[in-house]
Amino acid sequence: MTHYIGRFAPSPTGPLHFGSLVSALASFLDARAAQGQWLVRIEDLDPPREDPSAAAEILRILDQYGLYHDGEVVYQSQRSDLYQAALEQLISSGAAFPCTCSRSQLGGRLHLGICSARPGEDCAYRFLCPGTHLTLHDGLQPDHSYDCQQSIGDFVIRRRDHLWSYQLAVVVDDAAQGITHVVRGIDLMDSTARQYLLQQALALPHPHYSHLPVAVERNGQKLSKQNLSLAVCGADVAATLFTALQWLRQSPPDALASAGRDEMLQWAVAHWQPALLSGLSGQPAPSSFMRPS
Ligand SMILES: [Zn+2]
Repeated sequence: MTHYIGRFAPSPTGPLHFGSLVSALASFLDARAAQGQWLVRIEDLDPPREDPSAAAEILRILDQYGLYHDGEVVYQSQRSDLYQAALEQLISSGAAFPCTCSRSQLGGRLHLGICSARPGEDCAYRFLCPGTHLTLHDGLQPDHSYDCQQSIGDFVIRRRDHLWSYQLAVVVDDAAQGITHVVRGIDLMDSTARQYLLQQALALPHPHYSHLPVAVERNGQKLSKQNLSLAVCGADVAATLFTALQWLRQSPPDALASAGRDEMLQWAVAHWQPALLSGLSGQPAPSSFMRPS
């Protein structure tokens, strides 16, 4: 039996749409096919952008789809102490520094190199981008290479308003939860590069990443809460799962279309072939899950 701990980590900014459902389903199937654990983490780091009822609604939908998680749900809003400890570690090793540069001062350029800010209440903290090349290997996508100072720069890990950045929190939590495998949308590939650099600086293990194609609307925009994509509801669960398996190119047999939810998930775990998604970066969502044109 392989050691596998996967996770699904939504931000509670709104209900699940088809794109987030297929990410949840693919990461669940990948974990269960490896007889691994599958954890759920709510990434509630940005209260002003969040909907207080969204986390409960996301968890309710996952349950309705039979995507049962292992262990307790973790909420990032309760884990500031861990992020603070990681920030202090980065500061003491010289990998993070205070910054008061404004967006207009940067004028669209990447931040490169320690600036003259002193630590204080009114500063952000940035990760000091190393002058290296980085090549990411992926379970589904070709290698992605980055010249870090050309394309990443020094990125914010704690904002001026004291909110934690997504990148730092994810790296700390993936390590704390022992995550070995991350299956998520290719839109997060550039975040993976930043997370990889943070893992190096904090001497944390790198999970194995597989980046899925994203589901797109008629106009080519990816499905997202910001793009007002349609919510997945709790009706027609088995039919939606069947559609999701087709979208994931798993070729479920016609006879499975009339099966119930649990039988469908059992089939999907037994027949999970992520390689069928290799090299795909995006494909249209099923029309019933696209915004009306
Ligand atoms: Zn600065």
